[in-house]
Amino acid sequence: MQCATVKSGVECSFMAKSGCGFLGGACRTIPDKCEGCDRIKNYGEQKYCIAFPDPTVRWRIGNCSLATHIKVESKSDAAKVRVGQQKQKKK
Ligand code: SF4
Repeated sequence: MQCATVKSGVECSFMAKSGCGFLGGACRTIPDKCEGCDRIKNYGEQKYCIAFPDPTVRWRIGNCSLATHIKVESKSDAAKVRVGQQKQKKK
């Protein structure tokens, strides 16, 4: 159903005929850590995340998994290269 609170017109699974079912009855604004992310959108004078209703929660246990403004180096890539080198040595 389409949002009728802060993100007017956006399809949202929390929206029902009785109103927004999200905790607090509306999406929450972004925290400072989100600044620079491409998923931020302004609704009125406030900034919101288009992916999550409460962006602060996404930063509680580390970096947000959908953040576009941070790059995480994967250690597994280095491990994959080493495995490939070991295979070549065996041949
Ligand atoms: S995707 Fe993550 S980092 Fe980007 S605005 Fe949403 S919560 Fe913030």
